[in-house]
Amino acid sequence: MLMSNPWPAAAMRLALLLLIAALIGLVSGRVTLALLLALVLFLGVQIRSLIRFERWLRRGRQLRPPQSEGLWGSLYEHFYRLQRRHRERRQRLAELLRRFKESANAMPDATVVLRGVGEMQWWNATAARYLGLEWPRDQGQRIANLLRHPVFSEFLARGDWHGSVKVPSPLDEHLVLEIRIVPYGQERKLLLARDVTRLHRLETMRRDFVANITHELRTPLTVIQGVAETLSEQDEADPEDFQRSLELIREQSRRMSRLVDDLLLLSRLETDERKSAAVPVDVAAMLEVLAVEASALSGGRHRIELDIDRDLQLRGDQTELRSAFSNLVVNAVKYTPADGRIVIRWFVDDDAVHMQVVDTGSGIPPHHLPRLTERFYRVDSGRSGATAGTGLGLAIVKHVLSRHDARLDIRSQLNKGSTFDCLFPVKLGMRGLAASASSGTNRP
Ligand code: ADP
Repeated sequence: MLMSNPWPAAAMRLALLLLIAALIGLVSGRVTLALLLALVLFLGVQIRSLIRFERWLRRGRQLRPPQSEGLWGSLYEHFYRLQRRHRERRQRLAELLRRFKESANAMPDATVVLRGVGEMQWWNATAARYLGLEWPRDQGQRIANLLRHPVFSEFLARGDWHGSVKVPSPLDEHLVLEIRIVPYGQERKLLLARDVTRLHRLETMRRDFVANITHELRTPLTVIQGVAETLSEQDEADPEDFQRSLELIREQSRRMSRLVDDLLLLSRLETDERKSAAVPVDVAAMLEVLAVEASALSGGRHRIELDIDRDLQLRGDQTELRSAFSNLVVNAVKYTPADGRIVIRWFVDDDAVHMQVVDTGSGIPPHHLPRLTERFYRVDSGRSGATAGTGLGLAIVKHVLSRHDARLDIRSQLNKGSTFDCLFPVKLGMRGLAASASSGTNRP
């Protein structure tokens, strides 16, 4: 709304006052005094309005201005309107800021606003969680005092912030953060941090895997290469030497082939997203066959016993289960010295359906147990020749079991022996007529 100009009316009013005063002065013969009194009156009214104006301003701006006419009324109105506009703008800005903070807090990545040499001005909830920041305690603190990792310090000091760095969180060293810095405005920077722990772990696993597989393949290849070269250098090889060399080549080729087979199986187990088959499997019969194979491998050096519930079957995948159980039985033979005893057990109790392999072998130091099912993890990496496995056996067991909603429990005592216990959910076990009716179709 356009306000009318109050000045002409105010001037008119003053002129009228002076005119009346002059007339009274003329009539009374004291013109100067009358004009002076009129001016004092005018000044008094102005001072009163000024005092009211000051009081209104002082009391708070929310109140509507006091009713007033003329110049002062216009002044009040003007001020009041300016104030309202200012208040509305402030509310709009506060709302905008609130929404910005809300959206920044909802971001899954950490955001920290930095000023000058890295003083933290503001951060979102994720940053508080990742970096352990507390409001307002840490406001104004330098980020370099908080994130002291040398890689980050160097990155911050660099001044050109292309790319990113990976550093552990100061709160939890297992939490890996990928940090970027984006400069904006004057002397301001935005620090963005993302949780890349999973990605980092996968990357490390991939690197380890390539290193492991290269190492595993290099050993037999070096042996084969060496034997082949020796043979080619000899003009006339002794037939016995020749046979021994051939046997060495055969053994190392078998080792490589085992490695490739295990790798293929493991890769299939890992990538196959379908659930394992759930057909009744005659595990008892399977274990009997495995016991015969184990006896052949043992060559009479061990006592191998079966303690199995012949009526108990399991809903699952025949091929996968055979691979898993075979790995456990073969391990028991491999890691049990001569004259040791190996018991293969198959039973159900209140908690689970168990397939157990108990041996009186070398046992495993406790600190190795949690990592035993990792690919290529071995307790004694120095083993070679016939006993050298692929290091993939227990990884295969773990995958097969997890595809059957089962788990592996390993109990072991050094130099006394180990028990590898596969625990399947009770609901996968079956017995009685249904089992015996279908058992024939599931035999290998
Ligand atoms: P490997 O091919 O080396 O046998 P596994 O994954 O089957 O690989 O086993 C991993 C490691 O666990 C083995 O290298 C061995 O050190 C240890 N291990 C497995 N089974 C037994 C056992 N029955 N007794 C003692 N140690 C065992």
